[in-house]
Amino acid sequence: MTDNENQIVRQVETKIKDYNRNRVGSAISITVFIGILVFVPTPGLESLPVQLSVFSSAVFLLCSAVFLLPFQKLLVVFFITTSVTALLFFLTQIRIDLFSILFFINIGVLFRANANTKIIVHSFMTEMEEINHLKIQATVDSLTQLLNRNGLEQSIKLVWNGCKRDKKHVGIILVDIDYFKNYNDTLGHPEGDNILRQVADSIRNCFKRKTDIVSRIGGDEFLIFLPDIKDDYVLKMSQKLSADIIRLNTKINLENIPCNFLSVSIGIVTRIPQVDDTLTAFYKKVDEALYDAKKLGRNCISFNGHIIQSKSSVYEIASVNPLSAKIVYQNEEN
Ligand code: GH3
Ligand code: MG
Repeated sequence: MTDNENQIVRQVETKIKDYNRNRVGSAISITVFIGILVFVPTPGLESLPVQLSVFSSAVFLLCSAVFLLPFQKLLVVFFITTSVTALLFFLTQIRIDLFSILFFINIGVLFRANANTKIIVHSFMTEMEEINHLKIQATVDSLTQLLNRNGLEQSIKLVWNGCKRDKKHVGIILVDIDYFKNYNDTLGHPEGDNILRQVADSIRNCFKRKTDIVSRIGGDEFLIFLPDIKDDYVLKMSQKLSADIIRLNTKINLENIPCNFLSVSIGIVTRIPQVDDTLTAFYKKVDEALYDAKKLGRNCISFNGHIIQSKSSVYEIASVNPLSAKIVYQNEEN
């Protein structure tokens, strides 16, 4: 079973528990009511064994109608009920015709209740699958399958307060593709989408820890939130990402842009969040860091206010790792 299926099963189990819990009150009142009806002396039902037999079958009928019970539990209640009537029958306290009628009624109730439970559980399952599907749609970017802005906000909220409380070092990385508009204009929107997917895959490959939160927050902008992280790791992985994207070897030749291969600019801020720190202020800082990297000519990494990787060193990465030249895009005019 996948994680998603497991989660749906757990949600359905919780829903069934809530369903049953909400009906306990009415079940008790109805049982008392049935008890009064059955045990108040009525002509033809005066004898206690008869009253007990009718009462136990009525309670079984009530349990199966009111609660959602798995077949095994229904079977247990069925056996208890039938044992009561069977015992009274063997002790010759009730007649065979009453025993037979109650026995067949109980069997009918058992199978009807089981069929009803299956129908209701199936409808719960479908409902939960739809809710989960909508939740995923609302939090995941359909193009890259990374979290979207909404998904990011939700995921960060969960860990941000924990990091603040435990004084854990956190890192935010903002990645923006350089001159992406030109790639779109030259290669077309579908190929632009393809590049976005490739960049998303590179980010996913770099930030693989379970706790890493990776998102596409808009057009060609990606945000990575790393809770409980060391500066060394953030730097190492950001440099790896920058190099991996150059290694994608996606090229265009245009006169109006200074570099003809796909690259990204990266802004990074890391710190231990203080009590009065807000996420908004943190985003602002990382936005400024990205702006610094863009201002310096793009293809750079700005880390806590310092440019730690400039264009030239990234060109070195490209030359140290000769490109396989599998995808080379040419400007049609050239
Ligand atoms: P800079 O180096 O300053 O970042 O330059 P840029 O050309 O990358 O500028 P900018 O980041 O503003 O451009 C983002 C472009 O991303 C603009 C828009 O056409 C394109 N875009 C936004 N969403 C999508 C998308 O879903 N698919 C594709 N193919 N393009 C998109
Ligand atoms: Mg851009």
